[in-house]
Amino acid sequence: MDKVDAVIVGAGVVGLAIAARLSCKLSNVLIIDKHLGFGEETSSRNSEVIHAGIYYPEESLKASLCVAGKLALYEYCQKRTIPFNPLGKLIVAQNEDQQAYLEGLLLKASINGVEDLVWQSRRELHRFSSELKASVGLLSPSTGIIDSHSYMQSLLAEAESNGAMFAANTQFIGAEPTDKGFNLSLDIEGEVMSLQSRYLINSAGLYSTDVAQNIDGVGRGSIPELHWCKGHYFSYGGKSPFSRLVYPVPETNITGLGIHATLDMGRQLKFGPDTQYISRSTTPDYSIDLNLKPKFLEAIRRYFPGIDAAKLQPSYSGVRPKLQGPNASFADFRIDGCKAHGIQGLINLFGIESPGLTASLAIAKYVEALLAEET
Ligand SMILES: Cc1cc2nc3c(=O)[nH]c(=O)nc-3n(C[C@H](O)[C@H](O)[C@H](O)COP(=O)(O)OP(=O)(O)OC[C@H]3O[C@@H](n4cnc5c(N)ncnc54)[C@H](O)[C@@H]3O)c2cc1C
Repeated sequence: MDKVDAVIVGAGVVGLAIAARLSCKLSNVLIIDKHLGFGEETSSRNSEVIHAGIYYPEESLKASLCVAGKLALYEYCQKRTIPFNPLGKLIVAQNEDQQAYLEGLLLKASINGVEDLVWQSRRELHRFSSELKASVGLLSPSTGIIDSHSYMQSLLAEAESNGAMFAANTQFIGAEPTDKGFNLSLDIEGEVMSLQSRYLINSAGLYSTDVAQNIDGVGRGSIPELHWCKGHYFSYGGKSPFSRLVYPVPETNITGLGIHATLDMGRQLKFGPDTQYISRSTTPDYSIDLNLKPKFLEAIRRYFPGIDAAKLQPSYSGVRPKLQGPNASFADFRIDGCKAHGIQGLINLFGIESPGLTASLAIAKYVEALLAEET
């Protein structure tokens, strides 16, 4: 049976960041993905925003890994010439209640170590864009955007230059723990193959709980329920009236950040994502229902009343792997080592939704430290 030091299941941005990190110390790292290429699921269906770390509860993994990941990511982009733009974001309020929310957000951000938020008066906001309607806002200068495909490409190139290998079209079927690590069964283009590995990292995103269920010895009690929550985007034709990202104050009880305006590296303006829990299946349904357009227009008009409805067109969608169910309260990332499931050398990553892209380098560092602690 072939032997490797580590198998990483899932070549999304998080699996690739882990591969780049672990391959600095381990000589045989194998990263597998069931698709023909890397990053074909959630990692290429998101907003591509480098988040500042404003919204997450104190001491949560989302807060600490977002803030650390953001700094690491900006440095990485500069060092490896990944296209990015720290263009900043405005969080805008329409009334006194929303202003009070922003005051709370300012405090929360500062507790999380995000100290650079700046109040913007109506007049200052108007200077950013005469199309923007808001009574007051907060500017987050450390929020930015990134070309996530180039970033993933760079992580893979880095891992490969450290000796790691990427096996596309390779599906994880199951694993059993042994005294030397794990015996794995993989389906490679329809043929089942066995492999030994010292470490096993489950970074399978939407399918992370299915992968965990197929690892012998992982008790059902240590596998959380994963919910799928779809987010749709509509693109806006023509020149963007905004040069920064614009986020409304999230409505209460919603599970995203509200339908916001983001730009990509080509300055294309898009709106979204909304939140819609969907049932789990073997392949995510990425279709976009045109009937969503009125809901989008209503939400966008609150801060962009002059929107031209004809320029708003369905674009793409992504699905969040959420530990937070509908109407439930905040749920953090789960990065489970031996203490959680009792198996040495296994890391299960669950619920790596937003800000997973921003946090990816910090998550990789966290995984490495967890493995070092255990072995
Ligand atoms: C709508 C939306 C907007 C978002 N916006 C942002 C944002 O602006 N900023 C931000 O920081 N984050 C954002 N995120 C979150 C971010 O996209 C994710 O946290 C990140 O992409 C997760 O990466 P991943 O590698 O964990 O998962 P994935 O990209 O889903 O990768 C998992 C991989 O595992 C593979 N896999 C699954 N099962 C198997 C198996 N059995 N065998 C082999 N391979 C398998 C899949 O094919 C897949 O490629 C957003 C997410 C969504 C859905």
